[in-house]
Amino acid sequence: MYAEVIVDIASSEVDRIFEYEASEDVYAGSMVSVPFGVKKIEGVVMRLKETCSFDPAKIKKISSVLEETPVLTAECLELVDFVKNRYHVPTAAALRLFLPAEMRKGRVKAKNVTFYRLNPSFSVTEITAKIPARATAQRGIIDILAQTEKCVSSELNEKFGNSAVRALLAKGYINAITERENRNPYVSLAASDKRLVLTPQQQAAVQSAEETEKRVTLLHGVTGSGKTEVYLNLIKNAVDSGKTAIMMVPEISLTPQMLSQLRARFGNAAAILHSGLSQGERYDEWWRLRSGEARIAIGARSAVFAPVENVGVIIIDEEHDGSYSSETAPRYNTAEIAAERAVKNGCKLVLGSATPSIDSFVKAMGGEYNLVNMPSRINKKPLPEIIISDMRLEIRRGNNTPFSSRLRSEIAECLSSGNQAIIFLNRRGYSQTVICQECGYVAKCDACDVSLTYHMDANVLKCHYCNATYKMLEACPECGGVHIRYGGTGTERVVKELSKLFPEAKILRMDNDTTRNKEGHFKILKEFSSKKADILVGTQMIAKGHDFPSVTLVGILDADMSLYFSDYRSRERTFQLLTQVSGRSGRADKQGKVVLQTYNPDNPVLQYAVRYDYDGFIREEAKLRKATGFPPFADIVRVMVVSEDDAKAVDVLRSLYAAISDIKSKNADKFIFFNKMKSPIKRMQNKFRYQVLMRVSAGQKELKNKIYETSLTFSTKDVSVYVEENPNNLT
Ligand code: ADP
Ligand code: ZN
Repeated sequence: MYAEVIVDIASSEVDRIFEYEASEDVYAGSMVSVPFGVKKIEGVVMRLKETCSFDPAKIKKISSVLEETPVLTAECLELVDFVKNRYHVPTAAALRLFLPAEMRKGRVKAKNVTFYRLNPSFSVTEITAKIPARATAQRGIIDILAQTEKCVSSELNEKFGNSAVRALLAKGYINAITERENRNPYVSLAASDKRLVLTPQQQAAVQSAEETEKRVTLLHGVTGSGKTEVYLNLIKNAVDSGKTAIMMVPEISLTPQMLSQLRARFGNAAAILHSGLSQGERYDEWWRLRSGEARIAIGARSAVFAPVENVGVIIIDEEHDGSYSSETAPRYNTAEIAAERAVKNGCKLVLGSATPSIDSFVKAMGGEYNLVNMPSRINKKPLPEIIISDMRLEIRRGNNTPFSSRLRSEIAECLSSGNQAIIFLNRRGYSQTVICQECGYVAKCDACDVSLTYHMDANVLKCHYCNATYKMLEACPECGGVHIRYGGTGTERVVKELSKLFPEAKILRMDNDTTRNKEGHFKILKEFSSKKADILVGTQMIAKGHDFPSVTLVGILDADMSLYFSDYRSRERTFQLLTQVSGRSGRADKQGKVVLQTYNPDNPVLQYAVRYDYDGFIREEAKLRKATGFPPFADIVRVMVVSEDDAKAVDVLRSLYAAISDIKSKNADKFIFFNKMKSPIKRMQNKFRYQVLMRVSAGQKELKNKIYETSLTFSTKDVSVYVEENPNNLT
């Protein structure tokens, strides 16, 4: 037998099949070690075949099989090809999505634990009779083992000494047994099983998603309409019929909440995959899924690559969320891959959201997706009232705190009635910028074209693009001035100001800075949900999905911040974010409220959000996008040219532009916009950034492939060129 192997080098130069001779324990999907040049290298067997394409005498043998079970299933091997062709990445890069780092290079191993037990061929009395009375250590060991089935080896070695243990092993009175032990994430997570009876609205949703002849169902349910329970029922039905399920949530912070409900119902059958776990945990959870011991995969977007077989349902919660498209290579779109898996498995894909993306909305309207609406909240209460605070008036009145007077009084009332509040601000750190008041100098990152954020906790300036830290300024490096101003409030400052106003209140902060430790999100959320704190201040990671019954007030600071990003999605994003955050309020038996602070109370997006008018908003937005030629009625293609060497980047940009111009001249009718320019952030991590930006009519698969193929040929050693389609972020 011969094996076609892809070696684990994700570069386009070695992106081809290498052939090796395979022994009998090699299968398609096996992870193997193969000779490669003078070294040995890891690879994955894509296919086996009877004959080889070269002189058999020259073909080398596979050195060893690294895992007994093939790591990739037949379906995943096909998906690797799909990802490779759809996103134009080397096969090895596509493979890595399916095999997280700890699966490769033998970085992590299974954890084995050795136990001792009495040799079952002897009785306790027989053994004791044969051990001399003065051998107290040996007798101690036998006493313990007589009372339990087995005992961890290290415990006995420590307590009674190695020599006593060795003597008993040598005489055959005790045996050593080795067992694999799984490293379990979130062991302290309480299983929360509410065993709810589905409302008619939920029942209808489950039924429609299962019975529709369409592949994809869009579940449009307002916040608090009980979408989770619909997902849990779909998963249950899949598992009951012997299949598996994949459940995705947009934020790592939401996985414990979901996991706790899954564990309550399905016990160990649920496994979790995300980057916040330890390597050992991830390795074990991955294998539990691969071996079939666990049948439900839950995680953020990477769970779409979960090694489960015979998938019965795939669910993407908060489907509109930007986190579902990967912004680093390989740049993939989770819903596209999920749809491909759904087709291969003959199962349904369910996309849920209170604010479906315009892409999904248009597909549902066009009849491609099955649309299910859940318009009422479980608690039968109206959605929380959204009160607008006009911050221009506040400033005129001399209020220079981050809170409007209305928000302050609402917080006071909320706390005095024993409820909890959430304050949302999408900016971490203390201040957004640090400015010299005398000369106007703004502290900037050396490596990026962006201003630095002050972090009071660590008393440093940080770059949020490359994570570089700088010493806080004592004086202005330009003019020596000592009057430094902090512009733009961040979460740290909000906490500080809040604790001045409400010294009694216990305040928690949740953002990228406070959740770096293992299970960091989980600890903060647990504290808040067990009511050990009164106010939770946070960035977008608190905006979505969370279900805290005692929260009756949500404060949104700077509601219009995201409106000014020069991005065609900013209106949609703002509407979605405002609806999501507002939805955290009044989810249980008490009516909720929202105070939304803005400098633009008349902005139409805010007006739609305040009325919870999703339909009105999305229809108008769709009209606008159609008229101006933006997605989903056209595709944005951005070819990035990035290099540390400015001149080389400009050279590549010029020739790339010429080459694409050539394509354009043959397809002029399909181009809506075409230009080359500096990227909005001109330099990042010491690299200069340029782009060729295009908009082409929707559905031009061949044209896009041509642009991909042409562009990628311009990559050089010093200049990297990559293509983005409808990117989330046009910075
Ligand atoms: P959504 O995801 O739609 O915002 P959730 O799924 O979090 O809403 O549900 C909101 C709340 O309603 C949760 O506390 C949940 O436990 C509760 N809930 C959901 N379904 C039911 C039901 N059938 N009966 C009673 N309570 C329910
Ligand atoms: Zn930087």
